[in-house]
Amino acid sequence: KTAVVLFTRDLRLHDHPALAAATTNAEHVVPLFVLDPALLGRSANRDRFLHQALADLRDGLKERGANLVVRRGDTVAETIAVARQVEADGIALSHDVTRFATRRQDRLRAEAERHRMSLRLFPGVTVLAPGEVRPGGGGTNYRVFSPYFRAWEAARWRDEVAAPRNVALPAGAEKLGIALPEPPEGESPHAAAGGETEGRRRLRNWLHRIDAYDDQHDAMADDDTSRLSAYLRFGCLSPLAVAEAARRKGGPGAAAFVRQLCWRDFYYQVTAGFQDIARVPMRPAGDRNWRYDDAHALEAWQTGHTGIPIVDAGMRQLRAEGWMHNRARLITAALLTKHLRLDWRAGQDWFFRWLIDGDVPNNSGNWQWVAGTGNDTRPHRRFNPIRQAQRYDPEGDYVRRYVPELAGIPGADVHMPWRLDDFKGLDYPPPLESHGDEAVWLR
Ligand code: FAD
Repeated sequence: KTAVVLFTRDLRLHDHPALAAATTNAEHVVPLFVLDPALLGRSANRDRFLHQALADLRDGLKERGANLVVRRGDTVAETIAVARQVEADGIALSHDVTRFATRRQDRLRAEAERHRMSLRLFPGVTVLAPGEVRPGGGGTNYRVFSPYFRAWEAARWRDEVAAPRNVALPAGAEKLGIALPEPPEGESPHAAAGGETEGRRRLRNWLHRIDAYDDQHDAMADDDTSRLSAYLRFGCLSPLAVAEAARRKGGPGAAAFVRQLCWRDFYYQVTAGFQDIARVPMRPAGDRNWRYDDAHALEAWQTGHTGIPIVDAGMRQLRAEGWMHNRARLITAALLTKHLRLDWRAGQDWFFRWLIDGDVPNNSGNWQWVAGTGNDTRPHRRFNPIRQAQRYDPEGDYVRRYVPELAGIPGADVHMPWRLDDFKGLDYPPPLESHGDEAVWLR
């Protein structure tokens, strides 16, 4: 028997149920990745990380006697072509829930049936498969996080599966694909490098530091979060393996971290039930009268020149690293939607271009949460950026790190430079005048 394992956003060998099942059940396995123009080109940062992760996956497969077959084109057409060339009995892949992925799975199933091949979907993109726990009152997915978290935590998770020791390619498989291209240039100079090897190294280091997470995860300058999100996004790390490793470690830091991982699963199951999440407000009544006439404010926000240092620091971290601290994501997104009253989709799209961890469920789910159009049970809450800055960057170190124009201002004064006598001498703008008197909304 021969099986094709189609890799998508599960670029790893450890805890990969589709690969493990194929290597157990079939004599020959073709590990396949399709460089699909429908997915490439949305974010130079993600394209770079993806190519690095693919190179690492290829090397790992080579160590196991196989290789990664790389094709370019439409994922469904290329997968079926490869499967027919090797006379495969079946195709296996990890189940995914976005609209793009669902359509791809449906098309693959139809084509596989037409050619008398089986198509099997496996878990692995989330800790718990979307729909595995369901709300008591009916419905396919939870809309509120806390009850979801309780059910998620109490559920029986699947067992982790071991990485295969050997992967046997069928004869001639080496000639099926193209050479993997070198990683393209990204846009962010300080971006993390992709791959399972790097992800696992970071996870090991993180487990030594996880105890502080409970107290420290909001301390913006200390950078005490895991920075594992991009590795989870591309499946270089198995979310289940990460959650289990944290559970084994135990303690309040690990518990807080596992709870945060549950947010990721939460938005996947939200997306499974609401596939328009990137464009349509989940709570139409929460959709405000967004202003579309302020290109200047949008550009100031995007480039980190709003004149509100904590916001500008976050937006510049995004461009420098392809990543932003969660607290900064909340503050910058709240400023765009609740103060500047610009459409959340404009912010979402900008994040999506830069974030290496950018994916539809988490990016759009969180944007809708902040904008008050999504799953926040308090959709009218407002974040005061100055108070947030004073609380989560009390010494101002985070701001000084990313906004060099303000590097000379000591302590927390850096958060309100317009109050300083020599403000006019700084090469830094006054706060954006949005609507009305900014002094009021900043207080
Ligand atoms: P840690 O604090 O170490 O958390 C561990 C893991 O838990 C993360 O890697 C992530 O997988 C998950 N997680 C943590 N917080 C959240 C959350 N609020 N929602 C969903 N999962 C979470 N996260 C993404 O992975 N992709 C996105 O595109 C994305 N867009 C966001 C947009 C906005 C406006 C906001 C407010 C948040 C967004 N997040 C997104 C969530 C969160 O900011 C990042 O997951 C987190 O900052 C990643 O850093 P970390 O790995 O150090 O997180």
